[in-house]
Order: sequence, then structure tokens, then C-alpha cells
Amino acid sequence: MLIAWWTSPVEAIAVKRKNTQESWPTYKILLKNEDNQIKLKNFEEIREHISDWFQYHQLFEKFKSDKQKGFSTEISRFESDLVNSKRKTLSKTYRLLLDWTVKEEEVTVAMVRWSQDFGHSITMAQWENLWKINWKFTNCYTIRENFQKMQHRWYLTPWKLSKMYKNVSSNCWRCGDSGTFYHMWWTCRKIQVFWESIHAELQKMLKISFNKKPEAYLLGITDLDIPQKRKAIFLYATTAARVLIAAKWKSNEIPSIQDWIQKLTEYAELHGLSEKIKNKSKQEFVSKWEVFKEYLKNKYSSLNSVAAFEELQ
Ligand SMILES: [Zn+2]
Repeated sequence: MLIAWWTSPVEAIAVKRKNTQESWPTYKILLKNEDNQIKLKNFEEIREHISDWFQYHQLFEKFKSDKQKGFSTEISRFESDLVNSKRKTLSKTYRLLLDWTVKEEEVTVAMVRWSQDFGHSITMAQWENLWKINWKFTNCYTIRENFQKMQHRWYLTPWKLSKMYKNVSSNCWRCGDSGTFYHMWWTCRKIQVFWESIHAELQKMLKISFNKKPEAYLLGITDLDIPQKRKAIFLYATTAARVLIAAKWKSNEIPSIQDWIQKLTEYAELHGLSEKIKNKSKQEFVSKWEVFKEYLKNKYSSLNSVAAFEELQ
């Protein structure tokens, strides 16, 4: 682990300064970058921050050992939230630490729950792949938000709500069965009708047949089922479906295929625009979305052109 830029070696060597109101000088103040090497500043340069030569000597020893580990000059969340904060209150610190622990625990618990629901384990490699690829395939905020919420199982289900409040039913808003997380997203017979039709449409669109696996539809874990060049469209399409389910949360309504096509068209437009802003070639965009464009043309024979795409090309 690298030594963070905000650590104070003076504080670490525990030499109390006369005026304890003042903050300890941190490495950011004490070190300099000379000839691409991180060095301790000369005694005179940091004179005002330390008490005497003896302390400078101690500092130098500490710096030498810390240097072995290396320094991290990147500003971490810890630094931006806490160290640089003017209101460095205990409650804030506590809240932040609590937040970290809770999140970490939540991730692990959620990972275990997903495996229990699927009835088989998701390997660490699969999770890592998910974080590396799926989280980076788009900049669209709603898509990323949905990925995160799904993975951490942050949606409030009837079951969870019934634990939180008295007199709240734990039953599914759509079918009346027990409203657990997995039921609400997958096993509910009403939502299965929706997933079944999405699955049928997607097989038509991608021109391949594959099994309807919950881990693919809910988390984007596709393994080898979906060819690499169709992976992006698969992720967009399944996220569109989930975003629609989330939009009808707490109601007994099921999204329609029409809603889904519309959402996917929106994503295509957004993606096209963001590529345009980034001055990227149209080629990549076109090759990603051509199957969707073709699918639309086949579905609506009356359609002469697909406006969303024509504008972008
Ligand atoms: Zn249900």
C-alpha cells in the first residue's frame, strides 16, 4: 500500500509541536519532486513547519522508510472528504466510515444472495469481469445507476418494506405472491411474461438462439452465450428492460415491447451523440447498432428509414 500524500510524518513520529492548534505538516508540504524523484525538502525550506534539527533528522528517517513503500499523490476520497474538509467533525468521520463498512458488507451479502437466487455460484472472475467491462461500456448515468443498484440489490421490495413498516404487505404488487427481490425481478409470473417476450425479440434481433439465463438478463453476465461483437447491444437492451421495470416499480403494470423499443432507440441516440461529441468515427457506432436498425426495419415494414440513425450518419 502506498503512503498517501496527506499523511503527516511529523504526526507519525509523535513529536508534539508547541502550538497544537496548528495542523501537522503533511508530506504534501514537506516533500518536493526533483529530477523525477521525491525528496524531503531542505531544512530551511520547511523551517517554519518543524521545531528543530532534531525533528528534521527524525523526519528524514521516517521519510526514508516511507519512501521504500512509495507515495500515492492521487487525491483519494478519504482526502477530499475528510482531510481537506473544513468541518472535520467526528460525526462526519463516523458517517463516512460507517458508509464504507456498510457498502462493503452490502456488496458481499448481495453477491451471496445472487448466487443463492440463481442456484449456482457466480465465480470471482465473473464478478470481476462484470465490474471491468459492464461498468465501463457506457457513460450514460441511468444505465450505470441501474447496474449498480441491481448488483447491490438496492431496490426496495415489498418484502423489505414490510420489515421496515408495520401494516405493509410483503406480497408482490403484481401477482400477490411473496415479494422478495428475486421474485420482483425474475420469478414473478407476470414479469416472466415480459422477460419471455424480450428474450424472443432479442434472439430475433441478434439472430442467434441462446438460453434465457437470469444472470445475463439481470446482471449482464453473459459468458460465451453472446458473441463479443453483440455484447454491447445485449447490455443496452437488457438494461433498457430493467430500467422500464424499475420505472413501473410499486405498480402492477408490466412494460410493453413498444416501451422497450422506444427506450432502446433513446439509448442508440444517446450513444450516437456521445460518440459524435467525442469525434469518434461513425463506424464503431454503426457496427454496434446495425442489428437493432435492421430489427426495426423488419418489425415495421412500413418504416422507410429509422430517424434516430439517419440523423447520426
Ligand atoms: Zn409477482
